[in-house]
Amino acid sequence: MSQYPHMLQPLDLGFTTLKNRVMMGSMHTGLEDRPWHFTELAEYFAERARGGVGLLVTGGFSPNRSGDLLPFGSKLISGWQVPFHKKVTTAVHDAGSKILLQVLHAGRYGYTPFNVAPTAIKSPITPFKPRELTTKQIYKTIGHYARAAKLAQKANYDGIEIMGSEGYFITQMLNARTNKRTDEWGGSYENRMRFPLEVVRAVRKAVGPDFILMFRLSMLDLVEDASTMEEVIMLAKALEETGVTLINTGIGWHEARVPTIVTSVPRAAFVDATAQVKAAVKIPVVASNRINMPDVAEDIISSGKADMVSMARPLLADPFWVKKAEEGRADEINTCIACNQACLDHTFENKRASCLVNPRACHETELVYTKVTQARKVAVIGAGPAGLAAATVAAERGHKVTLFEGRSEIGGQFTYASKIPGKEEFKETIRYFSTMIERLGIDLKLNHQVSSEELAAAGFDDVVVATGVAPRIPSMPGIDHPKVVSYQDLLSKELKLGEKVAIMGAGGIGFDVGEYLAHEGESTTLNTQAWMKEWGVDVSNKERGGLVKGEMEVSHRKLYLLQRKASAHGKGLNKTTGWVHRAVLKMKRVEMIGGVNYDKVDDQGLHITITKGEQSEQRVLDVDNIVVCAGQESVNGLFEALKENTAFRTHLVGGAEFAGELDAKRAIRKASELAASL
Ligand code: NAP
Ligand code: SF4
Repeated sequence: MSQYPHMLQPLDLGFTTLKNRVMMGSMHTGLEDRPWHFTELAEYFAERARGGVGLLVTGGFSPNRSGDLLPFGSKLISGWQVPFHKKVTTAVHDAGSKILLQVLHAGRYGYTPFNVAPTAIKSPITPFKPRELTTKQIYKTIGHYARAAKLAQKANYDGIEIMGSEGYFITQMLNARTNKRTDEWGGSYENRMRFPLEVVRAVRKAVGPDFILMFRLSMLDLVEDASTMEEVIMLAKALEETGVTLINTGIGWHEARVPTIVTSVPRAAFVDATAQVKAAVKIPVVASNRINMPDVAEDIISSGKADMVSMARPLLADPFWVKKAEEGRADEINTCIACNQACLDHTFENKRASCLVNPRACHETELVYTKVTQARKVAVIGAGPAGLAAATVAAERGHKVTLFEGRSEIGGQFTYASKIPGKEEFKETIRYFSTMIERLGIDLKLNHQVSSEELAAAGFDDVVVATGVAPRIPSMPGIDHPKVVSYQDLLSKELKLGEKVAIMGAGGIGFDVGEYLAHEGESTTLNTQAWMKEWGVDVSNKERGGLVKGEMEVSHRKLYLLQRKASAHGKGLNKTTGWVHRAVLKMKRVEMIGGVNYDKVDDQGLHITITKGEQSEQRVLDVDNIVVCAGQESVNGLFEALKENTAFRTHLVGGAEFAGELDAKRAIRKASELAASL
């Protein structure tokens, strides 16, 4: 008997059946934009199909040029494109799964000067003011959706998903916030919802009854002057009547100031919005957002809140997610930690997506872990992210691996990260590696500082040095004062600090430490109701957009976040997550000071000079503690000692190689590439 009977049950859609209730939601990888990348795109999807997922959805394809997300972005507008798409559909069908093409018109979110919208109102997240579509052009656009659907059918897709959420064109047509039209497409809600209904009608007419038509419905807009649940349900019922097969969940517009998918959002946070729609319609409804493990998915489906779950990033992180759940190996799932670092951040930087915990994602044809015919004896020194990746990839390929770690546990910098409120997901990566060490038969030696002599005597063929980093401690008068602690000591020893604390350094770790110290009690990431209250979300969506007044608690400590730069704090944080960290510390009332020179520390506190333009001011921050978050330095003494030896090949990876930009994404990727080449 499976542990996940509801999730693994087939879903009968009448004319076709999905083999289980797990769908890989749409995600733009960057491979969609150019036809010559479709071989890689096909392999990316095929690997997930082989991993057991019941249904896949491609990244968004615009139905016409004016719906482009980017200049020359992905679109399906002509017959010559069909053979390229057939590579994808054939690969997925051969692997036993089904696939939908997502049709996405970006509207005013189009990052091009040629974007269009219901009304010429610029979005807060794009620099281009859109051109208002004429009544006639709106009718033409409906035809373009039908054309894209017909082409998708020719390319052997099993159906399409119409993107009607996240603030894209259809949502812009639906809401008074962005639709101020006075023709038959504007004014009353009935008029505004005419567009999606006409699109569905035209698509259904073009493709016939036996073609899956999924509509991604914005159930909670999380912006002002948007839909209520009553309107969402009115639309859901009308979509059902018009011929939609499945309704998928969309949460939040891209311009919303409430996080919806970052790691600090509680798991399955918005499922109660989906449940309200599910209760109102007969067609199957799909839940999405922050669902990343099988027990969460099973809970949602068995409780009747949704018929299916959609996950995009978790299947980027582990293509074999479903298979592992089916075979009772959920502890082997490489869990998506919702960091966005290699997926969405890449998409926004116009780079090919990948995954921090799985660098093979979207590189399936390039980074291949082939089995070896002759096992080498490999030592890996250091069980942080780089060492763990090197050890597991080498062992997966058949090498005989010994992993040495000086501390009593594995995880390195991830252990510290997992202690930050809102970063609990990082524990999953440590659990994953811990399981794989056991399953792959890696010889783990904890509390073991290995020497060059021991390595030489043991007869290793390859030694991978992944000894990581140590916190940088700047030299300044009073740096040895008992008030001063490193972030590493604070987190590993769980030190109790005073009521007034200065944080020296405002990089990723300075912000994390700010959240750690500003926080009191249970992490709201583990308490959905409390999290909703903090961010001012009403999932029942009685108020327009589901927004109410947020009640983030102010920090009980007086906190200063300091940096030497004069630029805005947190500018260097990642694109899709940095704004959340900045918003939290602002709401917690952490005092941010830039242009700082650190003069000295003494019993009075931290003495600083603040320079703004030509002006300088001296201040003494009367603090109980100073936490140093001033970056890291490589720990590579062992590598220096080993590199001249001739008994084995020595390799250097992770922070030990380059600490300038301590980065788990790079560490895991480089370590995996190295292990793939041994
Ligand atoms: P970091 O981002 O490089 O920041 C170090 C900070 O210390 C900088 O703000 C720098 O700013 C300051 N600093 C550098 N040298 C100094 C010195 N000698 N004296 C005083 N201040 C000094 O490093 P991090 O915060 O340790 O984070 C490391 C990496 O971890 C990041 O690059 C990121 O990849 C990752 N990370 C990211 C996040 C996130 O995005 N949320 C969270 C955690 C970790 P000034 O020179 O202006 O003072
Ligand atoms: Fe998930 Fe981070 Fe990988 Fe994206 S990069 S799929 S958020 S683990």
